[in-house]
Amino acid sequence: MSCLKASHHLWTCLRASTMLSRLRTTWSLRPCVSVCRWAHTKEKGKPLMLNPRTNKGMAFSLEERQILGIHGLLPPKVETQDTQAMRFQNNLKKITDPLQKYVYLMGIQERNVRLFYRVLMEDIEELMPIVYTPTVGLACTQYGHIFRRPKGLFISIRDRGHVRSILENWPETDVAAVVVTDGERILGLGDLGVYGMGIPVGKLCLYTACAGIRPEKCLPVAIDVGTDNETLLEDPLYMGLYQKRDRSQAYDDLIDEFMEAVVERYGQDTLIQFEDFGNHNAFRFLRRYREKYCTFNDDIQGTAAVALAGLLAAQKAVGKPITEHRVLFLGAGEAALGIASLIVMAMMETGMSQAEARSKIWMFDKHGLLVKGRPQETDSNQEAFVHDSPGDVQSFLDAVNTIKPTAIIGVSGAGRLFTHDVIKSMGTLNERPIIFALSNPTTKAECTAEDAYTLTDGRCLFASGSPFGPVTLSDGRVFTPGQGNNAYIFPGVALAVILSGVRHISDTVFLEAAKNLSEHLTDKDLEEGRLYPPLSNIREVSIQMAVKVVEYVYAKGMAFRYPEPMDKDSFVRATVWNTDYDSFLPETYDWPGVSFTPKTK
Ligand code: NAD
Repeated sequence: MSCLKASHHLWTCLRASTMLSRLRTTWSLRPCVSVCRWAHTKEKGKPLMLNPRTNKGMAFSLEERQILGIHGLLPPKVETQDTQAMRFQNNLKKITDPLQKYVYLMGIQERNVRLFYRVLMEDIEELMPIVYTPTVGLACTQYGHIFRRPKGLFISIRDRGHVRSILENWPETDVAAVVVTDGERILGLGDLGVYGMGIPVGKLCLYTACAGIRPEKCLPVAIDVGTDNETLLEDPLYMGLYQKRDRSQAYDDLIDEFMEAVVERYGQDTLIQFEDFGNHNAFRFLRRYREKYCTFNDDIQGTAAVALAGLLAAQKAVGKPITEHRVLFLGAGEAALGIASLIVMAMMETGMSQAEARSKIWMFDKHGLLVKGRPQETDSNQEAFVHDSPGDVQSFLDAVNTIKPTAIIGVSGAGRLFTHDVIKSMGTLNERPIIFALSNPTTKAECTAEDAYTLTDGRCLFASGSPFGPVTLSDGRVFTPGQGNNAYIFPGVALAVILSGVRHISDTVFLEAAKNLSEHLTDKDLEEGRLYPPLSNIREVSIQMAVKVVEYVYAKGMAFRYPEPMDKDSFVRATVWNTDYDSFLPETYDWPGVSFTPKTK
């Protein structure tokens, strides 16, 4: 323990013993305290209730209310967390508008963190689409209008040279994971500037809800370098800098300074997840930082893993190995290139050459098919997937009919471009066509689940980025579409990386995660049309994935936390945060002949 920590500890224990002597007088007892958790918090009285980390609302026991100086500040009834959760759930059910649900949920997070996560985790299937996509997208567009309290750190281009001191203002001293955005490409919604803060906040909610990473270890960051969104620049309620995006060297310098400041303050192994940066910057920063910091880009690598997991699961239903698939992407940006690269890695694992694997992947972007010699430029990230022209291809439908893919993956963010003709063609070309409409939010999905199942007579294997409800065909068959949600991947990977002290996250980690996720699929899930396990299982899925990834990184010498835990499963599970309230009372009082453990719930 450092001197500072030790003196703080001593001070708080002294304060604790003063409080206890007051207790003794009141209760005419003489307790000898073993451990006193409340002694480790700085606050008492009203501030303790105003702090969402320590607040328990009416679940403070009578003893706690007396000791902590909050007696009388709450209604007399002492409630259990169960009752509080019931009230919260009842209120949520009454709200029909998703954005209002979001506002209500975020309000609870601002008041009582444990209650918030308890309710989120218990109803993750219902509430994930609220705290994350699609509703979070809507919340980001309205951020300045629904804003109540800041939940992360804002760093602007004007803070260059002072980023470290801004990080010092963040009250937590032990952050393990940072999610950062510059707001340029929020979901499929484009440049939302500083309103993009909703994304790191939402992602980190899922770190805790899905993988049990302690909320105080998570830091959401929005980097503000301006916005090119004219509507926001004219909106009096906009909250960022009123300037066009700075695309000069100053932007790169700011991001460099930010990365250095994070590891300086929180350590070399702090995980930094990049989220919703524009295409060009996303690839550049991934290349620049991946060997220097513990970092990954969820839009490239997380998306890749979740899409590959869906393909691997679909493969079970199709009965063909991955090497026999031909994949045609609609879109050739971050998501497409990330997914394509990981598919190539998965094919190469079976012994296929890189060139052959790449030849099985085609891309169609806003200028048409990526082929050699086309007038529009292709960038260096796309080169691996630029092939000789297969003939005259004017439209995506032409591309489908010419390339005859076994799978089409939509990641263009451009709306319903898997037309009825495209879906029908896929159904004619394949016994079990694979159709992934991954663009977010729901309005941007390349097709609806209903169209995909109906137009292929229920034969397709469908996944989407945003959730679609079950589809009933005219013959009564019901299909539950899979949601290729990155939340199946990034929380589990993050937990493993944090626990094992990985310094650089290799793509093979995402390959392992994808394989593990696909293994969770049962035959029954496949029959129901699912390509991913039900979201209600996501916590267990994430934890098992973390265990597998921990095993993998130790086996491959990528882990830096030693001694190596022998029982990886217990190691991972032991760290998982739960939502039970802490007691603010001494854990035990020991008197000669009497042992008393106070009830706190
Ligand atoms: P991006 O901007 O990097 O790439 C978009 C690509 O789509 C570009 O290649 C562009 O040329 C192409 N495109 C645009 N309009 C087109 C059109 N009309 N026809 C054909 N191609 C067109 O964006 P990105 O990061 O790759 O994300 C794309 C979409 O994927 C977004 O909607 C995003 O929400 C979604 N996404 C989903 C998941 C998921 O479901 N797990 C994860 C990441 C991204």
